[in-house]
Amino acid sequence: MHEGVPDFPSCTFVAFVVSALRILTAGRRIGIPRDPPLKVKSNQLVLFGRSFQGDCVTTSKEKYESKKLPMMPIRDVVIFPFMMTPFVVGRESSVRALEEALAADKKIFLATQHDASIDEPKANEIYQVGTIVNIVQSLKLPDGNIKVLVEGIERGKILQVTDTEGYMQATVRVARFTTEVNQALETAMQRVTSLFEQYVKLCQALNYETMISAVRMEDPAKLTDVISANLQLSIEEKQELLEIFDPAERLTRIADVLDIEIEKLNVDRTIQSRVKRQMEKAQKEYYLNEKIKAIQKELGRGEKSEFDELKKKIESAGMPKDVKDKALQELKKLEAMPPMSAESTVSRNYLDWLLAVPWKKRSKEIRNISRAEKVLNEDHYGLEKIKERILEFLAVRQLVKNPKGSILCFVGPPGVGKTSLGMSIAKATGRKFVRMSLGGVRDEAEIRGHRRTYIGALPGQIIQMMKKSGTKNPVFMLDEVDKMSMDFRGDPSAALLEVLDPEQNFMFVDHYLDVEYDLSQVFFIATANVMHTIPPALQDRMEVLRLHGYTEQEKVEIAKQFLVKKQMLAAGLSDKNIKFTDEAITSLIRSYTREAGVRNLEREIGNVCRKVARKVVKEGTDYAITITAENVNDFLGVIKFRDTLAHEKSEVGLVTGLAWTEVGGSILSTEATVVDGKGKLTLTGKLGDVMQESAQAAMSYVRSRAHRLGLTRDFYRNLDLHVHVPEGAIPKDGPSAGITIATAIASALSKIPVRRDLAMTGEITLRGKVLPIGGLKEKLLAAHRAGLFEVILPKDNEKDLAEVPENLRTAMKLHFVDTMDQVLAIALESPLPKVEEEVTQPIAPPLTTSTSESPATHQ
Ligand code: ADP
Repeated sequence: MHEGVPDFPSCTFVAFVVSALRILTAGRRIGIPRDPPLKVKSNQLVLFGRSFQGDCVTTSKEKYESKKLPMMPIRDVVIFPFMMTPFVVGRESSVRALEEALAADKKIFLATQHDASIDEPKANEIYQVGTIVNIVQSLKLPDGNIKVLVEGIERGKILQVTDTEGYMQATVRVARFTTEVNQALETAMQRVTSLFEQYVKLCQALNYETMISAVRMEDPAKLTDVISANLQLSIEEKQELLEIFDPAERLTRIADVLDIEIEKLNVDRTIQSRVKRQMEKAQKEYYLNEKIKAIQKELGRGEKSEFDELKKKIESAGMPKDVKDKALQELKKLEAMPPMSAESTVSRNYLDWLLAVPWKKRSKEIRNISRAEKVLNEDHYGLEKIKERILEFLAVRQLVKNPKGSILCFVGPPGVGKTSLGMSIAKATGRKFVRMSLGGVRDEAEIRGHRRTYIGALPGQIIQMMKKSGTKNPVFMLDEVDKMSMDFRGDPSAALLEVLDPEQNFMFVDHYLDVEYDLSQVFFIATANVMHTIPPALQDRMEVLRLHGYTEQEKVEIAKQFLVKKQMLAAGLSDKNIKFTDEAITSLIRSYTREAGVRNLEREIGNVCRKVARKVVKEGTDYAITITAENVNDFLGVIKFRDTLAHEKSEVGLVTGLAWTEVGGSILSTEATVVDGKGKLTLTGKLGDVMQESAQAAMSYVRSRAHRLGLTRDFYRNLDLHVHVPEGAIPKDGPSAGITIATAIASALSKIPVRRDLAMTGEITLRGKVLPIGGLKEKLLAAHRAGLFEVILPKDNEKDLAEVPENLRTAMKLHFVDTMDQVLAIALESPLPKVEEEVTQPIAPPLTTSTSESPATHQ
């Protein structure tokens, strides 16, 4: 039994080595140097092993002996003393060894093989240190294997292995230590126990309660083995622990291993908790999303059905193929997105927009010219020429299937019926009516939309209005095209060009929708107050219809036939409650409005109606009143405009000019005064460049005609002239104030008053010629409104008289003149003094006398 003397690891240290080793191990927790092997000469020997623990040294006494036992190699497990382990035995040699052991004292030596994959390991393929176990139970399984439960007794080192009768037999040396439990050892045990406690807490694979009770023991050998058996270590590490025979040394080693393992677990734990936190967030979101889905399903608004519905809508929206494909693709993307995410909202909105614009729905067009004529006449008084042009336009659209014609553009002052004409066209042709104001639009995106990538992006106004109309072929009014401006954000007129161009507008691309949209069936109508601010390229696309403004008589008719009825209806009054006499309306027009259109007139009529409505409510539905010229100011208060300028006194240097503005014609007084000075000309009243130049020209003309005004050639050397155009701080400009300024200067210099009952308009050249002006009708209407029935006009404008209503023409005395001399002859109250003709070449055609040559007049 006792054979040879092999190497035997032990822990025999001399005292002085201890401290050196401590220094070494302090820095290296892992891989504490194993004790050098000790040559043992005898097999009955007591060795003195010294191990270190903390600051103390403990002493273990070791006693060893040899035994011969059946041996069984085991895989993947290291069995420690005091450990109960079940396992299954299958290898034939192992079964044999087992049977042998069972037949004897049920003790068998188990040692772990190096490589678990080897079936028949040789002696050198098995670890040299193993455990002698007691077979507690064995059970033969039907497949021939035997299930055993073994209990470790003590560790042993193989001295020799023999292979007889088909199984291994090992001569094993066991070493029994008797350890003196002193203070130091106890402290070491406590430390290991508490480290193990920490370890168990951190290591989820072990049950805390069981473990803690299992390690409550006083024997260091048992304590270390129980702990070793339960540590989650690799086979190699466990084997290393098994190979330490001295319990005191094992304690030290286990303390180190535990330290390292705890640290590892702590790191693991931090990482895990970080990962867990992230996971929890994601899981929470997922959970909530799922819950929302479930709730929606419960409410019958299940996701699925919603997507199905969207799909159905896309299929039936009548989109062109490209658009449909894009919509379906977007839907697919949407389905894959978490429902409450930002992207899904964007995608959803986009789909909603795609579905909201009309793709195939169109109003059934009424193609009946007589009906259209009837509607236009029913809605509007007068405007014969305009109505005719509109009907012609409609007729052409009716005959040509796809009219690639121009776009109608109504140009005129506010309140002349541009919008209401557009509405009537819609009514007459059975189309929907939408209106978009371009006033102040300076960003291309307002027309064409923003790309979807922008937060809060929306389609442009064109698509928004198409959605509003709900049909593909509405009447689309582009209001105030003349008020569009341009800046660094792009040129809206360029976008508008595309909209209005029949060659391009069947594939209009809005940045937001990002698909082609067909605008070719839309009936575009533009409106503007003036033409000159409309970009030429746009003007080119449009057929301009000018609305000039109404005469007083026309206004009365419009009020009687339309406005009063409309406002009565709006105020809830009936014919019984209120009546307007013609005089009342005239008085309203004269005293409360000064405009080319009828918007303010309508507003004032509305004011009267509301006041009457209040009385009706107060005094009962029988209340009735007739509005007359006398009682109209009881309703509207102090009059806003004085009736006329005609009755005012004529003054020196004060002339009434006529101007044309965006809101129609208006009168413009011009004043000139002479003071001592050095020939300076001062111009005030916010005059624009053109008007200032007119004033300079007028001044030069007057100087060239000094002798005609009874002045010396160098009269201006001692004088300063001040020309002022009052009327608040309104900027004024335009090329039609020349003769007005020249007359004012001439009057101021000659001290002859200018007739107050007369108005004039015309540009002047340096030679005193009078040049034509624009806006004849508006200017005449303005003069008429102001009660000035005599007007001086340039001769060249005589041809434009055709556009002036007959009744206005007959109501006024019109002087058409060629030269400034003629102007002065008519405008000044008394003739200019007679002076000798200058010998120098006359600049303008000479006049014999101011009165002798009667100017061309038109009555
Ligand atoms: P605009 O668009 O030119 O500024 P609107 O079309 O809004 O003017 O007209 C203002 C009001 O005057 C509307 O109520 C309109 O019906 C009315 N109106 C203008 N001209 C006429 C007209 N010729 N006949 C009847 N009503 C008119």
